[in-house]
Parts: sequence; structure tokens; C-alpha cells
Amino acid sequence: MSTTSRILVVDDDAGGRRLTRATLSRAGFDVVEAEDGAKAIAAVQQGMPDLVLMDVSMPVKDGFTACEELRALPGGQNIPVVMMTGLDDVQSIERAFRVGATDFITKPINWPILAHRVRYMLRASAAINELHQSQRRLSNAQRIGEMGDWVWSVTDDRIVPSDQAWRILGLDPAQGSVERDTLLGCVHLEDRLRVREAFAKAVREGHGFSIQHRLVRRSGNVRHVHQQVEVVERHSNGGALHLVGAIHDVTQRTDAEEQIRRLAYYDTLTGLPNRVLFMQQLQAALHYAERHHSQVAVMFVDLDNFKRVNDTMGHGAGDELLKIVSDRLVRSIRVVDSVSRVSQLDGDTPSIARLGGDEFTVMVTDVNGADDAIVVARRLVESLCEPVTIQGTELYVGGSVGIALFPDDGKDIETLLKNADNAMYRAKETGKGSFHFYDPSMTARAMERLNTEVQLRHAVDTGDFVLHFQPRIELANRRITGAEALIRWRHPERGLVLPEHFIGLAEECNLVGRIGEWVLAAACRQLALWRDAGLPMLPVAVNLAASHLRDPALPTLVAASLDRYQLPASAIEIEVTESVMLSDPEASIRNATELHNMGVALALDDFGVGYSSLNYLKRLPVSSLKIDQSFIRELASDASSAGIITAIIAMARTLGIGLVAEGIEQEAQRSFLLQQGCTEGQGHLFSVAVEADAFASLLRRQDLPAGRPALRSVTGGARRA
Ligand code: C2E
Ligand code: MG
Ligand code: MG
Repeated sequence: MSTTSRILVVDDDAGGRRLTRATLSRAGFDVVEAEDGAKAIAAVQQGMPDLVLMDVSMPVKDGFTACEELRALPGGQNIPVVMMTGLDDVQSIERAFRVGATDFITKPINWPILAHRVRYMLRASAAINELHQSQRRLSNAQRIGEMGDWVWSVTDDRIVPSDQAWRILGLDPAQGSVERDTLLGCVHLEDRLRVREAFAKAVREGHGFSIQHRLVRRSGNVRHVHQQVEVVERHSNGGALHLVGAIHDVTQRTDAEEQIRRLAYYDTLTGLPNRVLFMQQLQAALHYAERHHSQVAVMFVDLDNFKRVNDTMGHGAGDELLKIVSDRLVRSIRVVDSVSRVSQLDGDTPSIARLGGDEFTVMVTDVNGADDAIVVARRLVESLCEPVTIQGTELYVGGSVGIALFPDDGKDIETLLKNADNAMYRAKETGKGSFHFYDPSMTARAMERLNTEVQLRHAVDTGDFVLHFQPRIELANRRITGAEALIRWRHPERGLVLPEHFIGLAEECNLVGRIGEWVLAAACRQLALWRDAGLPMLPVAVNLAASHLRDPALPTLVAASLDRYQLPASAIEIEVTESVMLSDPEASIRNATELHNMGVALALDDFGVGYSSLNYLKRLPVSSLKIDQSFIRELASDASSAGIITAIIAMARTLGIGLVAEGIEQEAQRSFLLQQGCTEGQGHLFSVAVEADAFASLLRRQDLPAGRPALRSVTGGARRA
């Protein structure tokens, strides 16, 4: 102790006080005096002494009362208080301890040793204070670090946890100690056997261990802990007698790790495994299957109408749809769990993943050939057949599934996924809402497709197309009222290729815009040629892809094409299918309105099979509807077709729009349509689509009755009068 220690001497005997002061001062202490208990308390409140030497019996306030009060003062806990009692006064000694005295000395005082006694007392008290402090520090550190410790005596099966260990275990520290079984009782049921064995082994073999496991608190709260256990004393046979353990609550870290794992391996929207995890699972499944000579089915699921929902209802709706769909897929997989052991490698996770967008993959391990895979695929497809209600709208989503089997359809992940993907495209081709197995000819088809794409691009660059024209007929008198321009691809090897074989591909490759440009130019050029040859000018309808109608450049393009050949706007009409309504209808409406104002008529092609929203139909300036061929074809066989035709005719009348029936092949069809009030049509009954020269001959052959205008007036253009 560097500074001088202050000793408070409390005694009502002035002589005694003086002697004590003299003795202690000589020994180097600083002495303060008080003549009774009350004065002593006042002195303590002035400044804390390092030690109090107190007589027991004093007037005003005796030593016992003063000691008790002193202990209650702030900081009064740690000061050593030495009571001066009579030699044989056992009662006073006992009472002194009860009120919190640290020690006692007996009167008469042995002066020569008093100073030594005080010095020892001060040293002991300092040591105790330090001990308390370091205990407090340890306890704080344990609390902050969420770490506790325990000691375990094996022989009497007593485990004594530290304060923080009690807290981590969620047990009441009042019990002082616990038995091994009580401790094990706190361990999560699934981890208990493992922990029990680790303890038993440590006792048996005398080796420490570390273990991570879960604890379940009485509240049901689950914590993750890490325990590091050491053996500090061993039996002669090597077994452990005393063990110490550090127990660390690592819940926060485990949670963070779990979250990182979730982010890295799971899709945040659906909670399904993502591509990364799926690849790992599949890799593991393939290794397993290779060793056990079993089969694995890899399936590719693609939603049939996802893009439409996303485009028309927004991404929020798209997300909602994906969540519902993924739930359904997972459930459908769980049902078949007993049929084929789905994902036996990873017990809890069904091996279905979302690769992105509307693409899901499913892995079925240990399948017994194609039959097992069919069970799963059928469930998947069926689960998507039920309508989904999103934002109050009932939607039919549907999905197609492609299947590839390991090892027959591929020995590695990439090949299997590629082949399952190919098979999925094949399923889509065969009809949406179906599944299809991979077969090697698909690779050939994919190659062919790629080849066709290259050739098509080349054709678009060089304009290797030709227009054929199918006359539009007035049903009552079979006179030609116009023509529809239909494109053909002049293929170097395949000859004339019909649009159904390349327009779809052109859409996927973003070529329809350029094709539409070519068609518009070619149609205008042909019209000019006919005009110059003195033929009557009848309107020619050109087909444009729905996406082209949204193109802001379209009105300018149409105007330029007409201008170039000095044609009136009524010379051409534009046909688009109902799918224009599906995405960005506003852009279509804007362009169509502009074209309408220019005097260019717009017809809705293949009407009746698509998704026309009457609401948009009202706003789209349509001059005519072309009734889809399928209704005409089924007129004789399907009564509902007749009903639909009648309804379309009635609707067109009400809206004041023109009508053209397509694909008329039989006289009966013509008379039915005429009877119902449809006055125009096209079809093989009258003429197939023919080359420009042949069409000119058809025109020449029919003599126009006098006074009938060959071309309607330019103003208005649309047939909506
Ligand atoms: P669409 O616009 O509905 O054209 C009518 C299709 O039906 C034409 O086939 C036509 O030849 C055929 N057809 C006409 N009358 C009959 C009949 O009585 N019976 C039968 N069975 N068929 C008949 P095509 O020329 O093969 O065209 C098919 C589709 O390709 C067209 O359907 C149209 O959607 C599209 N298309 C044609 N030309 C173009 C074009 O220049 N651009 C774009 N984007 N699409 C085009
Ligand atoms: Mg058409
Ligand atoms: Mg059509």
C-alpha cells in the first residue's frame, strides 16, 4: 500500500484512544478518533477509513449498532471492522460477527502486536477485495461473452455451474449443483444421445472433448451451445474423476451462419433450394447412383403461362404466382415420396429447386426406370392444372415437364439438365400441360433449329421471301373484295416454306419486326405494280406480329411504305392476332389509333380463340374481326361452333365492326355464314393463296359492275363507317 492507511479508532475511553493512536501512529498509520458509535458513523460519512477499530460498549450508540449501520452505508461493505471485546466475552464476539464485524481483538489490548494485527487485517482485506473484483470481472466477461463454466465431480455426480452457466442452461442457481442427468435433460432430444455418449466416453477414457449441441430451455426456447470439456483429475485406471467445462452460447453465430447458408443456397422468393444447392444435391445423387447402380430422374418444369401473367398483371402478381406454384410442386412431390424415395440424401428437403424465372427442377433418386418418373411427372403436371387465384383473378397456369434419366440420358449434370430442358420444350410442343421424356433425336432437332435460325437470319438480310395472295370474297356474289398477303420463305433447299414453320422461330429470334417491314414494302410494291397494270385497286391485308404493333416506329414505317409507291392509306390493312391485348395493350392502342387516324384499317385475326378482353377491344380501333378457321371447320360437327359464330356476328354488329370468315371450304359453310349475316370470307372454296400474277388473272376475270368503287374513299379508311 503506497499511501498511508487511515484507521478510525472508536472508543469512549479517552485514555485507551490515546494509547491506540500513539501505537498506530508510530507504526505509520494515520489515525482518526471517535468517542462513540454516532460520531464514528459521522466520521465514516466524512471519508472512508481503511479499517475501523471499534469498542463494543459505548454511550449514545454502541459498537454493534454502529457496525451494522456502517455496513449499510455505500462502500461500507468492504471495510474491515475489528471489534474490541472483553477477554471472555463470548457473547459479544458472537454478536459482533452477526452484525458484520471482520475480526475481533480482546481487551486489555496487547499493544506490541496491535500494529501487526492491523497490518495483517488490511492485507487480508485487500486480497479479498481483489478476489471479489476479479470474480466480478470474470462473471462480467462470461456474461458478455455468453460463456459459462462448470466443474463436475464424477464420484459424487455433482456438477457446479458458474452464474452464467446456470443462465445458459436455463436452470435455477438456487439448487447449487446438478446431477449429470439433469444437465442431459436440458439437451435437445435429437442431440441427447450424442452428448450422453461424449460424457460417458470422457469419464471412461479420461479424455476431454468438445461438442456442439442444442439446449431446450423450460420456456421452449432453443439455444445452440458449444462445450469444451477437460479432465483435471484421473483415477488410477485412467478414468476421469474431475472434469471442468466451458459452455458457450453460440446461438447468434449459428443463426447468422444459417442465414448465410439460406442466402447462398436458397431462393429468397420461394424458399426452395437454388441452382447452386440443386447442383450439389444432384452431384451427390449421381455419385450415389453410380455406386449403387441405380437411376436418377432429372425433371425440368416450366410454367406455361407465367410470362403472360407477369406481363399483364405485373411482377407482384408474378411473384405471388411463383410462390403458390412452388408450394404446390413441393406438396405434389411429398405425396409421391412413398412411391419413389424422393431426395433420400437430404431427409428434410424435397429435391425441388427453382433455377430462376419460372424454371423449376426436380430430382428423383432411386427411380425404377421411366415408370416411377412418370408417376412424379404426372403429379407435378396435375398440381399445376388447378386454377390459381391472384389479386382476385382466377388463372390457369399449367406447366410442362421434361424428363432425363441418369445414366441413360446423360452421365453428368450438364448433359442431364440440357436434355431435360430439351424434353421440356418437346412437351410444350406436344401440347401445354404435358410431360415428355428426352430422346436423342431431340439433340438433332435442336441442331436443326439452330441451323434454321442461321438460314432465316440470312433470308431476312437478303429478302428471300415471296408474298402469295388469297382473295377476300363477298359471300353473296363471290366477287373479290380484297386480298390477304401471306408470306412464304424461298428456302434454297426446302423450296417454299409456309409461315407456320418459321414465324414462331422468327419471333423467338426477334426477327418479326424486320420481316414485317419486308412484307409491308413487298405488299405496297405489288399494289403499285397492279395499279400501273391498270387493275382495280383492292385493299391488301398484311399480317403483322403482335409485338410489331407495339413498336413505336410502326406508324412511320407504314406511312413511308405507302408514300414510296404513292398509295392511299386505304390500300393496305393490318392484321394482328388477339394476343396484342396480352402485353402492353396501351402501346398497341396508341399505335393502332395513330394508324386509324392515318386511314389504315386494323383487323383482329383468328378471332375467338385468344384472350380478348372486351374492355380493350372497345378501345382498340378495330375495323374488322376475322373469325378463326377452327369455328368454320367445326360447324358441321360441333354445335357450339355455330353458337360462337352467331355470337361473334352479333357482337360485331353491335360494335359496328366488319367481319370476315376464314377457311371456308364448303358450300354449306358459305350459306350458313351468309344466313347469319356474315357477308365476307376467305377460303379454299373460292381460292387458295396464289402468286401475284395468278391473283391479277383472278381480278381480270371478274368484271366490275358499273359504279362500284374499286377502292373505298381514303378518309376514315376503316370499315367502321
Ligand atoms: P392467317 O393470317 O389466319 O392466314 C390464313 C391462313 O389460312 C393462311 O395460311 C391461308 O393459306 C390458310 N387458309 C386460307 N383458306 C383456307 C382454307 O379454306 N382451308 C385451310 N385449311 N386453310 C386456309 P398460311 O399462309 O400458311 O399462313 C398461316 C399463318 O401464318 C397466317 O394465318 C398468319 O398468322 C401467319 N402469317 C402469314 N403471313 C404472315 C406474314 O407476312 N407475317 C406474319 N407475321 N405472319 C404471317
Ligand atoms: Mg391473317
Ligand atoms: Mg387467321
